[in-house]
Amino acid sequence: MRNLDLVLGVEKRIVFDLVEVVEGRCQLRQALIRDKRFESLSLLPAAQTREKEAVSEAQMARVVEDLGALADFVIIDCPAGIEHGFRSAIAGAREAIVVDGGDEADRIVARLDALGVRATYLVHTHAHFDHIGVLADLKERTGGAGLLHPGDLPLFEALALQARYFGVPAPRVTTLDGELADGDAIRAGCVRLDVLHTPGHTPGSVSFALERGAGTMLLTGDTLFRGAVGRWDIGGTSLEDIVASIRTKLFAYDDAAVVVPGHGPSTTIGIEKRENPFLVT
Ligand SMILES: [Zn+2]
Ligand SMILES: [Zn+2]
Repeated sequence: MRNLDLVLGVEKRIVFDLVEVVEGRCQLRQALIRDKRFESLSLLPAAQTREKEAVSEAQMARVVEDLGALADFVIIDCPAGIEHGFRSAIAGAREAIVVDGGDEADRIVARLDALGVRATYLVHTHAHFDHIGVLADLKERTGGAGLLHPGDLPLFEALALQARYFGVPAPRVTTLDGELADGDAIRAGCVRLDVLHTPGHTPGSVSFALERGAGTMLLTGDTLFRGAVGRWDIGGTSLEDIVASIRTKLFAYDDAAVVVPGHGPSTTIGIEKRENPFLVT
């Protein structure tokens, strides 16, 4: 959108832009500028003079739909953050990755429906029932593929036992569709999640790293919390394991990387390095 015209060196060739397309003042094809080096690459410029609010989410979805008929791939450049510009940019997105469906199938399905996206993958930080309990439901209702690190297969097979221990109804039994491994990249549309094996809370615990325009976001499950680490005393792991995972895998990211744990408030790598009593040296 904005600035890509400069990057591609086509700024002097702009006649029409996205806002004029959505307002019906030109045809979509008229606004596309073909790259001189790659014949199959075209740019639809954003308006330089109008505010982002000039394009609604519905209008953006329509443009992406129309572009889809002309091109194999539609790549959307959008502003950082999750304000209006981002919401309209993702309005045409069709795929999503659900991380830790937990026990909230209805809320997740409602959110996916409202955004009009399909869950391609259902990935899990670990196999405790409060993270993976509704997998059977979600698989059935979204068609997404359920993935887990193989180190947590024994826990996954013991979901009924976990539920009985916490006095909640046993989750429906289902099968996994694949395994997560350290270094894997899970892709859906323009989203890429990098898989980091971070054992310690459970043997197969993983964290996910998501690179965004605004920096890295780390989804740490029950491995790293604000000011705490997950329990390490519930099966085959130790405090040393969880601390080593955090130090080697998570602390490898910038201090500014945002940490979104499986429970409780968000934090950053910098804050945890300085203040987490389990991790300060
Ligand atoms: Zn857990
Ligand atoms: Zn948990």
